[in-house]
Amino acid sequence: MTVTPMMAQYLELKADYADALLFYRMGDFYEMFFEDAVAAAEALDIALTKRGKHDGADIPMCGVPVHAAEGYLLTLIRKGFRVAVCEQMESPAEAKKRGSKSVVNRDVVRLVTPGTLTEEALLEARRHNYLAAFAQVRDTYALAWVDISTGAFHVMPLTRVRLGAELARLAPSELIVSETQEAELRDTVEEFGIALTGLARSAFDSTGSEKRLCDLFEVETLDSFGAFDRAEIAAMGAVLQYLEITQKGKLPLLRAPQREAETRTVQIDAATRRNLELTQALSGGRAGSLLSVIDKTVTAGGARLLERRLSSPSRILSVLRKRLDAVAWANDNAAQRHKIRDQLRKVPDLDRALSRLSLDRGGPRDLAAIRNGLAQAELLRDDLSEPAVPDLLVNVIHALRGHSELIDHLETALIAEPPLLVRDGGFIAPGVDDDLDEARKLRDEGRGVIAKMQAEFVSNTGISSLKIKHNNVLGYFIETPSTHAEKMLSAPLSETFIHRQTTANQVRFTTVELSEMETRILNAGGRALEIEKRLFETLRNHALKHAADIAQAAGGLSELDLTAALAELATTENWSAPKIDDSRAFAIEGGRHPVVENALQRSSGDPFIANDCDLSAEAGAANIWLLTGPNMAGKSTFLRQNAIIALLAQMGSFVPANSAHIGLISQLFSRVGASDDLARGRSTFMVEMVETAAILNQADDRALVILDEIGRGTATYDGLSIAWATLEHLHDVNRSRALFATHYHEMTALAGKLPGVDNATVTVKEWEGEVIFLHEVKRGAADRSYGVQVAQLAGLPAAVIARARVVLEALEKGEREGGATQKTLIDDLPLFSARPTPQAAPAKSSLLEERLSAIHPDELTPKQALEMLYALKEAA
Ligand code: ADP
Repeated sequence: MTVTPMMAQYLELKADYADALLFYRMGDFYEMFFEDAVAAAEALDIALTKRGKHDGADIPMCGVPVHAAEGYLLTLIRKGFRVAVCEQMESPAEAKKRGSKSVVNRDVVRLVTPGTLTEEALLEARRHNYLAAFAQVRDTYALAWVDISTGAFHVMPLTRVRLGAELARLAPSELIVSETQEAELRDTVEEFGIALTGLARSAFDSTGSEKRLCDLFEVETLDSFGAFDRAEIAAMGAVLQYLEITQKGKLPLLRAPQREAETRTVQIDAATRRNLELTQALSGGRAGSLLSVIDKTVTAGGARLLERRLSSPSRILSVLRKRLDAVAWANDNAAQRHKIRDQLRKVPDLDRALSRLSLDRGGPRDLAAIRNGLAQAELLRDDLSEPAVPDLLVNVIHALRGHSELIDHLETALIAEPPLLVRDGGFIAPGVDDDLDEARKLRDEGRGVIAKMQAEFVSNTGISSLKIKHNNVLGYFIETPSTHAEKMLSAPLSETFIHRQTTANQVRFTTVELSEMETRILNAGGRALEIEKRLFETLRNHALKHAADIAQAAGGLSELDLTAALAELATTENWSAPKIDDSRAFAIEGGRHPVVENALQRSSGDPFIANDCDLSAEAGAANIWLLTGPNMAGKSTFLRQNAIIALLAQMGSFVPANSAHIGLISQLFSRVGASDDLARGRSTFMVEMVETAAILNQADDRALVILDEIGRGTATYDGLSIAWATLEHLHDVNRSRALFATHYHEMTALAGKLPGVDNATVTVKEWEGEVIFLHEVKRGAADRSYGVQVAQLAGLPAAVIARARVVLEALEKGEREGGATQKTLIDDLPLFSARPTPQAAPAKSSLLEERLSAIHPDELTPKQALEMLYALKEAA
């Protein structure tokens, strides 16, 4: 079997990237072959063609143009593919020089995976894009993660059970694990929508990892960054190894690894995060999430910082106080805040520009971003020069200053609005480099000379329609309409004009003079571009030398943006500063749910009813509110809003309440709604119990627990018993501050028995048989559940509602009289036997209704009316 040299090269390259699509560069296209072509054509909805034969069969092929490749890449990555990008490493001319048979040298320059994107077009500006690695060394575990588009690098030790929670918090787009653990972890990981990548076990070897890390950061030992255990080192090393594989040796500019500790942030498990819709709504998107309604940041870096803070609220009082002081300052100084925000709007994404430059994927525009961003930082620093600036902003001021050398350098070197790519040229300002200016002058003069030439040719030939044009195939050429062909092709003109091409309507020529001029222009243009490329490299290296300062400025700008944004939010939404301390207080006055409030404003315009909540407890004791009230009254909203207020406070934000006093919370648990988990294939009751078990096993006296309708997924008495026992356990053993919503009214009796349990209810008013929701939370138990009234509101047929009222009354009567088992209760219900069917005689109630509707009160005397009433009473 003969294989063409090109196919041989393709197959050899492809063998190394079996589980990726190979983008094989051929001129202006990336081509895919064989199964890659079939898969890509389908995923991208592009034409599948053939090219040559292999093993006697046609080779399927498809391709995408290089200039539009980013869009296609994004689609493929989103659809779960990885793409190995293979470039031509030399020009066809160079290949020819090596020997007539050789194919152009090609090599894979990058493996594109979800966790390793850097292109602006492939990333969401306002979100992180994390690549994480999970490592196990004996019985210790660790998670390391990087955002290569910003250089952030983190690591934390964790217990195996916390893996899901941490993945939910960080939401990486890709997780690396040892191939020995791939099968075991696949379900957990993919449930979170994270791409799972198995790496050889050797990538996780902690000794090799340590060396890789020391080499990268040019240190003798890792001790200077923190005391890492073996698992942490292994996880960080695996991240590096994977970056080397995917970036083909070009490592991004990573910051020194920062160690995160579980003890520094509020622990929130995956279910709670989902239920509270912190960064993602239950429906999947960002819209409708808490993040979407509180995000007032104006820079991409600020938005990413907000997401990070909201995902990882802090437990460190000193940190929180600093953040809150800064927000208060920005809140009090409105004029300054507006000015700062206006300035910030002009700040480009410094982090991502820097990262692209370090990976050698950057262009002139990234340098300009750094120049503009730093210049803006200097201006902002002046706006912050007021006396009495809070500590946090003092640090910001330090980060924003001292970049004038780099700014000046870039300002002199670059034009104001440079092109995206180096190969576009024309980005170096005039006057920077004499050789460049010279080459550009020659090139431009050449263009002027050509314009003059055209005028000369026109007068020499007498053909006024003669034009000098340019295209990529012929270069510069002279074009006349075919009608002048004969004249041009015969003496004396044919002595000067050399024929090049005849098209349908035109004839094209060149002259010795024109080709010489062309060569000069090309040479000068080429030289100019070469010089610009060289200068770009120097500028790039210069900027990278300042990488740490730039990153620091970027961090300062993000912090400033977030501070100003939180103050803006607090002002526009009328939020207040929370009081946070070490106590076990939890006293919220006039609390609101920002997302529900926002939705109400936009739909009905109804006001949101603010509610108080007081779970303040003595040290070591529980305080639990048992919340009853009909469905739709606002129980879930109340539960969630208090959790959200606590989280907002512990992220360092003002809160949607008139006042809030919160003793630090270490863990937040919620078990909400039984119907949301159907998609996950487990029985809802099972899911509910698993989640409840996790809470009862883990919650401590610093936890805030929110339980909504526990036990709903099973039979009444089972459910009631489970809810009852759960509440007792929370009270006696966990001793948490908790909100417990239930529709089991029987449980309200617990308030009398357990000192730390109080009843509260969401009030409703009954009016003419209908229920009106007041959404007001009051101390005390609900008198009844109004389920039937709610069903009526929902539009259940009137006959069903009427029937339900009767059954309910009978059941309640049975209960009141005690001892009634369900069996006798049902037998006692005469109405069960008299159930109305289409054939059966109308029931008494409808007989009465018939007679009632026949009465016209306007036509009756009082006496007649009284008689009528007696008659009706007799019939009933
Ligand atoms: P429950 O959990 O009691 O069934 P929800 O908390 O789901 O009720 O609330 C039902 C609806 O009532 C919400 O979607 C919201 O529109 C409205 N609602 C809830 N709480 C309030 C409130 N405090 N003020 C105004 N409307 C509210």
